[in-house]
Amino acid sequence: MPPNTEKIEGLVRQLLEELGEDPNREGLVKTPERVAKAYAFLTNGYRQDLGTVINQALFTQTTSSMVIVKDIEVYSLCEHHLLPFFGRCHIGYIPDGKVFGVSKLARLVDMYARRLQLQERLTEQISEVVMNECGAKGVGVMMEARHLCMMMRGVEKQNSTMVTSSVLGVFREHLATREEFLTLVGRKG
Ligand SMILES: [Zn+2]
Repeated sequence: MPPNTEKIEGLVRQLLEELGEDPNREGLVKTPERVAKAYAFLTNGYRQDLGTVINQALFTQTTSSMVIVKDIEVYSLCEHHLLPFFGRCHIGYIPDGKVFGVSKLARLVDMYARRLQLQERLTEQISEVVMNECGAKGVGVMMEARHLCMMMRGVEKQNSTMVTSSVLGVFREHLATREEFLTLVGRKG
């Protein structure tokens, strides 16, 4: 079900008033409508279906060398403050007969990022879905992101980046595999 944008518009108008603004002044008249549209888009991951996103774009591949997709852009909203966090995600996996079409990994990241999230959970969800959907021997996901809730308020740490990682299967069991992943995504050596 898509969100009720009319209802959201009313709530945003109330919010503007409560913040001491005049929702009828020129610059704000259309703001509730824009905000409702923006939030509908930024949370459309709730309304996407995994099967449709992947759309059977799994290809047979006999190689068992590590596949790495680096620097996938991530834009999400922290569930504690509804403020953006953004950065990059690196995914590595060792296929067991099947590989993803390259653009699918980026779409998977978007599907989970366009929800209210915690960076830790987002990282784990991505690794789990890659592992389960292509039956990989192992998966490693690393995400580096900056959080506006930290940068604009709170501790006001302007340059801190939060790094999270999730490793499954052989990435968890074999140190050498994990190290290879970290080296390839440029986090080591
Ligand atoms: Zn936050």
